[in-house]
Amino acid sequence: MILLLGTRNSGKIRELKELLADVRGLELLSFFDIPFSEVEENGRTFAENALLKARAISSQTGLSVLADDAGLVVDALNGEPGVRSARYSGEPVDYARNNALLLERMRGITAREAHFAIVVALHLVDGREYVREGVLPGRIAESPVGSEGFGYDPLFIPDGYTRTLAQMSFEEKNRISHRRQAIERIKEVLVDLVLQT
Ligand code: IMP
Repeated sequence: MILLLGTRNSGKIRELKELLADVRGLELLSFFDIPFSEVEENGRTFAENALLKARAISSQTGLSVLADDAGLVVDALNGEPGVRSARYSGEPVDYARNNALLLERMRGITAREAHFAIVVALHLVDGREYVREGVLPGRIAESPVGSEGFGYDPLFIPDGYTRTLAQMSFEEKNRISHRRQAIERIKEVLVDLVLQT
């Protein structure tokens, strides 16, 4: 079974290839093998965006595609930044500016519960679709700490921890991450599909 990874981000491609390496009979292709154009993420939910990307890239390339959409959901901000996580403080994407805006919006708020959410969507050439989710619950720190990771990692303390994700190694974060959970779940689907072919 041939599967195209629907992301242009080389860090994500590396991570996905590592996580899916042990699915026997699955041949993974990336943007660097089969280029595709960027898809506008104008959905209202992570699932809508992930499906939108998987479908559009599949119709561009004629291949089965795995795509995802993720973001930070803050309870006290009615779910913001949500699907706008990457561009919360405007274009171009700037993680430090996003973190500064989030802290400003959270000023004086003591209820700091939040979660990272991700949806991965698999669109097959025959039209079948599968969607799986991952969630990492936690809370927003009072100030950014740590230099690992990306995005909102310096402001996010997972439940059961006293450190932010940016204070954890790549391996430690990936053991608990929302992305890891969703990939493990879609992996079960892929194993079944490969067995059927
Ligand atoms: P994407 O859909 O995976 O590209 O994620 C969209 C945005 O959500 C990113 O630009 C980050 O701002 C935020 N985000 C998603 N996952 C993470 C994470 O694991 N750590 C920190 N920020 C994240």
